[in-house]
Amino acid sequence: MPRFRAILDTMPAYKAGKAVVSADGRSHKLSSNESPYDPLPSVLEAVASAATRMHRYPDPAATELTEALAERYDVPAEHVALGAGSVTVAQQLFETVGEPGAEVIYAWRSFEAYPLLADLSGVTSVRVPLLDETHHLDAMADAITPNTRMIFVCNPNNPTGTVVRSAELTAFLDRVPENVLVVLDEAYREYVRDADVVDGLSVYRERPNVAVLRTFSKAYGLAGLRVGYLIGAEPVAAAVRKTMVPFAVNHLAQAAAVASLAAEDELLERVDAVVKERDRVRETLIAQGWTVPVTEANFVWIRLGERTLDFAGACAAEGVAVRPFAGEGARVSIGDPEANDTFLAAAAAFRNA
Ligand SMILES: *Cc1c(COP(=O)(O)O)cnc(C)c1O
Repeated sequence: MPRFRAILDTMPAYKAGKAVVSADGRSHKLSSNESPYDPLPSVLEAVASAATRMHRYPDPAATELTEALAERYDVPAEHVALGAGSVTVAQQLFETVGEPGAEVIYAWRSFEAYPLLADLSGVTSVRVPLLDETHHLDAMADAITPNTRMIFVCNPNNPTGTVVRSAELTAFLDRVPENVLVVLDEAYREYVRDADVVDGLSVYRERPNVAVLRTFSKAYGLAGLRVGYLIGAEPVAAAVRKTMVPFAVNHLAQAAAVASLAAEDELLERVDAVVKERDRVRETLIAQGWTVPVTEANFVWIRLGERTLDFAGACAAEGVAVRPFAGEGARVSIGDPEANDTFLAAAAAFRNA
């Protein structure tokens, strides 16, 4: 029997969202926060054309995409680092600080990948419980020790959809030592409509120890192609590039991301439609009697406690896959109106049962 790292025995497996089908054949996947829209024709075309070069390695530096991002956000290209999805960029970040004794702080509950990546990189996870479903930044600052190397702030938070606003973020960052990297995970930035939520890119411009994580998986609809990026000061981006596995971002993903930036107006119109649906879903749930925190992402969070798995089962019976966190609550992605209506009917029936 080969010997593996002991941590593998205690690491929870990442649970990806699963599709479910109702008895009469309906299936709505509201468990992975994906875009409900089909790919844009212009993006499909770019991928098809890139496919003719699949016998060649991709550009390891993803030059065209890096430059497109630099131009889009008005940052130097040296401040951009890419990865195969922002989860992989997060993994690269853990690699940059991961050594025995290093501590990484994040809120809990937050993105499920953080504990896995922390365990894999050998750092110590310091989890700070949410307060009212929101990052408790004072407690997170209190948790900083001389061993703290990195802090994740997931904004909006997955799975609660709640946000950290500008004034509290500034007060928090003022308490973080300069040698601790703060990563603002903004996977859902495009869905934010609250004007008090600062854009991480304006924070990073003032604070070299703050970096922003973004992805093409959600608002840009490229979850299946795996491409995400970090924008941060040159030393941060350079460290993240060093920990990237060569050729991690394949050239179909690079081409699709470049085409998506070119089609951004169309994609952001779709985001507007999802935001309208989000507000409708939340209001309807509240009218049904549920408590749903204000969400700035493309999902809603319902705290269900011991009823969580029953709720997910009732939704699955109607062909709606949601993401349950046993004993805590369920996260439900915003889909197309038909999917949302099916979910809302299931939620109403569960409440009245
Ligand atoms: C979905 C998500 C990501 C993005 O993952 P990709 O690897 O880019 O698909 C990153 N962070 C959070 C918090 C997410 O919910």
